[in-house]
Order: sequence, then structure tokens, then C-alpha cells
Amino acid sequence: MRIYAYGFPRIGKNREYKKSIESFWKKEIASETLKSELEKLDFQRSETYKKYDAKYPIGEMTLYDNMLDAAVMLGLYENSNLDDYYGFCRGVKALEMRKWFNTNYHYLVPEFDKNFSPSSFKSVKKKLLSALKSNPDGVSYLIGPYTFLKLSKGIKKKNLPEYMSALAGVYCELVKDLGDVHIDEPAFVTDVRKSDVLMIKEAYKKITSANKNIFLFSYYESCGFVQELYDLPLKGIGLDFVNGQKNLSAIKKYGFPDDKILIAGIVNGRNVWKTDVLKSVKFLKKLSKYAKNIMISNASPLYHLPVTVKGEESLSDGIFSSLAFAEERLYELKLIADCCSGVVSQEAKTYNTQSLATAENPAIKSRVASLSKDDFIKSVPLELRRKKQQDILNLPLFPTTTIGSFPQTKEVRSKRADFRAGRITKEEYGAFIREKIRGLVEYQLEAGLDVLVHGEYERTDMVEFFAEKLDGIATTKNGWIISYGTRGYRPPIIYGDVSRPAPMSVEEISFAQSISSKPVKGMLTGPVTIISWSFAREDIPISEVAYQIALCLQDEIKDYEKSGIKIVQIDEPAFREKAPIKKKNWPDYFEWAVNSFNLASMSLPETQIHTHMCYSAFGEIIDQINRMDFDKITIEASRSRGDIIKSFEKINFRRQIGIGVWDIHSPKVPSVKEMEKIVKRSLKVIPKENFWINPDCGLKTRDWPETKESLKNLVALALKLRQKFGSVK
Ligand code: GLN
Ligand code: ZN
Repeated sequence: MRIYAYGFPRIGKNREYKKSIESFWKKEIASETLKSELEKLDFQRSETYKKYDAKYPIGEMTLYDNMLDAAVMLGLYENSNLDDYYGFCRGVKALEMRKWFNTNYHYLVPEFDKNFSPSSFKSVKKKLLSALKSNPDGVSYLIGPYTFLKLSKGIKKKNLPEYMSALAGVYCELVKDLGDVHIDEPAFVTDVRKSDVLMIKEAYKKITSANKNIFLFSYYESCGFVQELYDLPLKGIGLDFVNGQKNLSAIKKYGFPDDKILIAGIVNGRNVWKTDVLKSVKFLKKLSKYAKNIMISNASPLYHLPVTVKGEESLSDGIFSSLAFAEERLYELKLIADCCSGVVSQEAKTYNTQSLATAENPAIKSRVASLSKDDFIKSVPLELRRKKQQDILNLPLFPTTTIGSFPQTKEVRSKRADFRAGRITKEEYGAFIREKIRGLVEYQLEAGLDVLVHGEYERTDMVEFFAEKLDGIATTKNGWIISYGTRGYRPPIIYGDVSRPAPMSVEEISFAQSISSKPVKGMLTGPVTIISWSFAREDIPISEVAYQIALCLQDEIKDYEKSGIKIVQIDEPAFREKAPIKKKNWPDYFEWAVNSFNLASMSLPETQIHTHMCYSAFGEIIDQINRMDFDKITIEASRSRGDIIKSFEKINFRRQIGIGVWDIHSPKVPSVKEMEKIVKRSLKVIPKENFWINPDCGLKTRDWPETKESLKNLVALALKLRQKFGSVK
């Protein structure tokens, strides 16, 4: 049985990817050096594939993002050198970023323009052809036209067939004489309309007329029209059998054609638990009743996993021996392949017999088990809460606030590194953080902000910080994955029952409050985001994991309340992203997602609960958001110029809302006028009494000079609005 592997992480064992690109940006290395560094990484990757006798794609390496590469290949963006290219990734010309399917990878969103250039692909083709020479087992890698168009913007539904057919023409030329070709079409697993299926078939009929050696991949879910692909002269079809259970039903129902290869994705590309090797062998036996030619593969690209578990030996035994990252997935494929072609080795038999070190916590288990409906519904209605809160807070009209973090300067990062390396003591580090908080509180008071934050200086990352404080969640030393471009994060691993051995952030928040005459927000990351940006256990329902985390947050809020905190913000930026790809699975998801938020925020009625959700791309889920029982939400509005407000019109939104008038993803300082425009438009929908003024998101990636300028304008805007609307409090 042959192995097919793809999507191995490009980040490198020691994050060489990040380091070389960022050195190039800082002009520390030349473009030639950068190119050769990335070639080296690419070479290491093919060597890894080869080590496991896999067939594999070539051309997966990107300078930043594969969607941008496809856009450049189609001539949508002029790109004559690396500075041009990186101009589309960062800075004033940067393309918008969106989440890639239901993952935490952000891709750059191309703006499709029908005047794309049909000959720009030639340099890509040349490169692929030359790479093939040194990779006889290589398969040329491409993003498919359907996925590309579905994920681009600027396309009206009615124009899709025309563009699809135009792109099919380009792909024909591109794949001609290219040998074996790997085409990724993850958009096949979304809810694809019947008319789109016909359109896809038309396009691929054309493309396969130029080259019959095409391997077509879908992943992250099941493809709802597998049998339709049988009509096409494809060489292979890659399917996800881990997260796409319905794929098996389709094969059972329709069989699988003898003239094609089924590339069966059987090891998980999205989570880290070892594969049950013997079970996979059994599964393949079953599958081979329906399909004659099978290759085995990872079920989705491996870049959602860190490179290797090697180096993580300091994790407890039970956890370490339960894990498989990208490289270990390839090893598993090899084990499975060996079992299929001969005897079942001892190694295969004992591979995953270790039992997982589940940190059992009967107390939290029974708290979750005894939850009833009332635990999710606040007894004091919104209006009454509003009054109680306003009496205490006494905020002016158009209150101003920020989202939480302030610039994480070099100084902050290097002090943290010192602390972690033991160069400074816990006390010294604590004193440093307190000084930072003190400075920030003083600055915010002076700047005239109404609701203050403590700045999140003690946090590396909004999920990892809480993961380190909670029991039942492990963090890794080097388990980096890319969230976008060169930005990496280390997803924690939720392996057991989650509980809170001690308060997590009360010290910092209450210190900030103790030196402030204005309210300081308690700052928490919500259950959905903690789960979504971690690897979660799969042995209990995900709702239970969420409720365990929610109870920990609820306890934290109680501790905040005891120390005089009046406002708590629970960030849920992953609330939309975690929604299942297929809409029919939405009700189940939103049930636990909304419940877990409401459970976490079960505070005193006097405590004002805020939530924050970075993006505006949630027009579709506005009803679900409205079921979350917060008092105030902050959302992005500057990039969409306030378009998002329309969604709130639909639901007769009665709660408070903070419109993100400053796009913090850019160093540009917003003028009072620009921000006012957004407010004006939003005020048509939201009553002025419910309106807050704040930036889009946290300021940790910004620098101080632009932060100060921008906040000055933001406060000036609020004063102007108060004057205009007759309240100068
Ligand atoms: N409170 C967080 C911050 O300000 C929120 C970040 C986010 O939503 N991504 O950094
Ligand atoms: Zn945000």
C-alpha cells in the first residue's frame, strides 16, 4: 500500500520560516538569501516525505500564503519582486485576511477581477517543471479554481460560471505536460449547490482533457458529491475519512471506480492524538471491498499540526506518549502501510496502547453533570441589569474604551524571556509587570478614556496564558503552527478535566483597579476560543469540555467581583470560525457555544459583561450572537466601513455595542473625521445611548506613537459626539 502525504508544515523545526522572512523584512538578509533559505526548508520537507516512501506534492512552499500565490499566478496582482509581493501581505496595500475554512489559519483574500492575465502562470509552470526533475515522485501542487473563486471577493453569484470556465481554460494550459498534478479543492466540502456541481464538472472535464494525471483533494469534511466526480477522467480522488464520516457512506453506496485511485485520508490532520493503527488497518480492509486501488494519506494538510513531538519529552509520560504531530502522522502511515502489506508488527500492536493521562477531576465533572437550564439563564433581565450597572458605573454618553492589550514592546518580550529562562525571579517579573500596568493606567486616565484595561502585559497569548494556569491543559515548548504569514502560536493541549487551581488574573486586574479612579475591565478568553485555538480531547463530548472551562471562568469572575471589579470582558474571536463547515451541523454547535458563554458569564447583575469578536464576517450568525447574554459587544467596523451594522438592524438589537472605528491591523492613524463617518452610519441603526467608541481589536501588535495619536483622536471623537448630542458629562 502506497503512502501519499501533503501539507507538511513549512514553519521548520526551529521556526526557520519565520526567522528568515522577518530578517528579510528587517533588511538583515538579501532576497537571494531568503530564497535559498526557503528552498532549504522545502528540500527538508521533501526529504521527510521521502523518508516514509510517500508520493508528495512539490511547489507547496510559499513566501507567505498560497492563496496570494494563486492570485499572483493568475495575474491579479503585479509582482515583479519580493517587495511587491510582501506589499500585498502587510502595510497599507495589504489584502484583507480571512479564516481558512474552520481553521485558525488566515489566508489573504484576493479581489477577483475578470481581467486577470491568462499567461502569468508561465513562470510557475517553469518552476514546477524544473522541480519535477529532482523529484521523480513529485506531484505538481495547485489550488483548484473552484476553491480559489469561492474564497476570493468581488464575485457575484451569477458571474461564477463564467469565471470558472475562464479559469478552467487557464488551468488547461497550466496542467498540460505537467505530469502528475495535485489539485486542492477544500471548498468541495462546503454546502455546494447542485448548479455548482454541474459547473465544477464542466470545468474539470476541460482541465482533464489537457492532463489525465490529476489527483483531486477535498478535506476538513465530507464531499457531498463524490459520485459525481467518478464521471471525470481523474487519476485519483483524495478524501478525508477522519472529519468527513459521510465519505465512507458515499463509497459504500456508490462504490469506487476501478480506473481511479482512492487516496484515503485516515490519519488526523487537525488533532494530535495518536492514531489507533490496528483500527485503521481494519478500516482499510473494509474500504478495499469497495475500492480496488487505494493509497493512504493524512486526512487534511499537516500544517495544522506542529512539526514533531520530539523535544516535548518534558510533558508528563501519559501526555507525551499519546501525541502525534505532523512527522509522527507520516510514521503512522508507514506503520499502517506495512501492516497492510504483510505482517502486523509488534510496534503496530503496541503503538497506541498507552492509556491517556486524563487528569480526572470528579469535582468539576459533577458540577457539569448537575447543570440545569437555570444555570445558563440570568435571572435578572437585561433592562434591570442595565440600570443597576449604570448607577454604579455612571458612564458618559459614547463611553470610550480599548479591547485589552497595549503594545507588546521588545522590553516586555525580553523581560518575559528572562523570567522564563530563570534570569530574573518571579518577584522581579511581577514587579516589572506591575510597573507596566501602573504606567498604562496613568496614561489612560490622562488620555481621557472612560473604561480602562490593564494592558495584558503578562500574557504571551490570550489562550496560552489561561492554558498555563488551568489544570487539565498542557502547553508545549516548541509546538508552533502558523496562524498567518510568519505569525505562529503554540496551541495548548486539552487532555483532561479542566479546573482552576487558583485565580488566574485577579492579581493584575485588581492591582490596576486599585490605582484607578475609573473602572478597569477584567479580561478573559471565552471557552469557544480556548477550545478552538487548542487541541482538544475527544473522549468526552466537546460541550462538556466547554462547560468545564466556562465554570473556571465563572469562578474567576466571582473572584473579580470580590475584589471590586465592575466590568468583565470575555473575548470570543473564534466564535464564528469554530462553526462547522456544513450548516446542518450548526444547531448542535451553537447550542454548546452559546451555552458555554452564558455559563461563563453568570455574574452578579451589577457586573457588566462585555464580549469581543474581532471580525465583522458574522452577518450570518447574528441570531446566534443575540442569544449570548452579554451587556455589550465590540465588533470590527472600520474595514467594512460600518456595513456590519446592517445585521444588527435585522434583529432589533437592544444591547450596547462598541463599534471598532480604528483598524488596528494597520499602522495608519485614523482621523476624527474618518471615524465619525462610521459612527454616523451606525447611529442610524443603534440608539446613541447604546453606543461605545473603541478600536477594532487589541493593540499588542501596534507601536506606541501611533497608539497615542489614534487614541487621542478617538477620545476627541467621543467628546465631539457628546457635545453634539447634548451631554457633556
Ligand atoms: N483582549 C484581547 C486583546 O486585546 C483580544 C484579542 C483578540 O480578540 N484577538 O489583545
Ligand atoms: Zn479582536
